[in-house]
Amino acid sequence: MTALLLDNATLLDGTGAEPRPRAAMLTEEGRIARIAGAGEIAAPAGARRIDCAGRTLMPGLMDAHVHFGLVAAGANDPPQTHLSYALKVVENIRLALEEGFTTVRDAGGLDVAYAQAVDSGEIPGPRILASGSFLSITGGHGDQRYRFDDAAPPSIPGLVAHTEICDGADAVRRAARIQLRRGATQVKLMASGGVMSPNDPLESLQFSVAEMAAAVEEAHGFGRYVMAHCHTSGAISNALDAGVRSIEHGSILDATTAARMAEQGAYLVPTLVILEILARSSAVPEYSRAKLDLVRGEVARSVATARAAGVRIASGSDLLGPRQTRRASEIVEKARHTSPMEAIVSATRTNAELFRLEHRTGTLVEGHDADAIVIEGDPVADIACLADARNVRLVVRQGQVAKDALG
Ligand SMILES: [Zn+2]
Repeated sequence: MTALLLDNATLLDGTGAEPRPRAAMLTEEGRIARIAGAGEIAAPAGARRIDCAGRTLMPGLMDAHVHFGLVAAGANDPPQTHLSYALKVVENIRLALEEGFTTVRDAGGLDVAYAQAVDSGEIPGPRILASGSFLSITGGHGDQRYRFDDAAPPSIPGLVAHTEICDGADAVRRAARIQLRRGATQVKLMASGGVMSPNDPLESLQFSVAEMAAAVEEAHGFGRYVMAHCHTSGAISNALDAGVRSIEHGSILDATTAARMAEQGAYLVPTLVILEILARSSAVPEYSRAKLDLVRGEVARSVATARAAGVRIASGSDLLGPRQTRRASEIVEKARHTSPMEAIVSATRTNAELFRLEHRTGTLVEGHDADAIVIEGDPVADIACLADARNVRLVVRQGQVAKDALG
């Protein structure tokens, strides 16, 4: 592996520290070997020196809530064959890397085999922490069958991960074990109604505490954790009772529940940009419109409530559909509710902590994996520059140059 000297950069290290102008970073064997001032590091023999010309050098971005597998969602022209499905999934994985994302967590619907294909170098992409199939109750958010349709599409292990519909603690336990056996790095379950599902009121409570606790127990036994889709405080409260660590969406969050989240050390992954995308989309079904309006009306207040309570707030886009682009728009959207620096930290250091990878990525620190990007522009002054992939001029993943558009 070629050593890289990224010289003459403005270093935005992901810790929340102010950007440091005229910095240099050396990567060797996939790790950050040294960080110093511009011109202070001599390039080792055989190293490639890149003059960043003052551009921003920052940690590779992270997305805690991706759905690479949900390429048919909202598609006018959903894939007709498994091959076409797989090709679209692979394309979205590649796009995420090109947009500067070096680690993502799939929030369900992606077979673990795609993460393995990235790991083994068969396809380009970010490091993927895959959940495999969602766990959902009958009639819950993950149960996408129409009301009078009983047949659920089967998963194809190694290719397609459809929802595991499971009812009762033993069935949930078994479904969690299946995902862990296939290599899921966390278990995803649906604990409340959702915007895009046909049959469930948004405020419906899905899974009993005992059912969720069975999944949590199995995940803990594997050294893993549970992430739960929860829109309302009632659902979050149940999830916290069961020991869930990562609360997804949390769009209608009251102060009492936020205080409990902070106390238990649970993370909130608000998903902001997808609400704006769906609001503009013509493909949102009628049954989703009122639910979408409700969530959109509450989410700003909920993020403010979480911040005030000291909840750790991560960053997840929830992008869906056949072509998933402008992934960093989530960070831009987040900065409407927080400071730009806070939005950046949520997508770097905080996401790394949520993924339990803070000892190796998420911040540019000597010894960490060399997961870094070079951005045209100053994201602290103009956060919107992150969302345009043309500004992502260099992507380095574990020391390998994955994209080079520096010219
Ligand atoms: Zn989701």
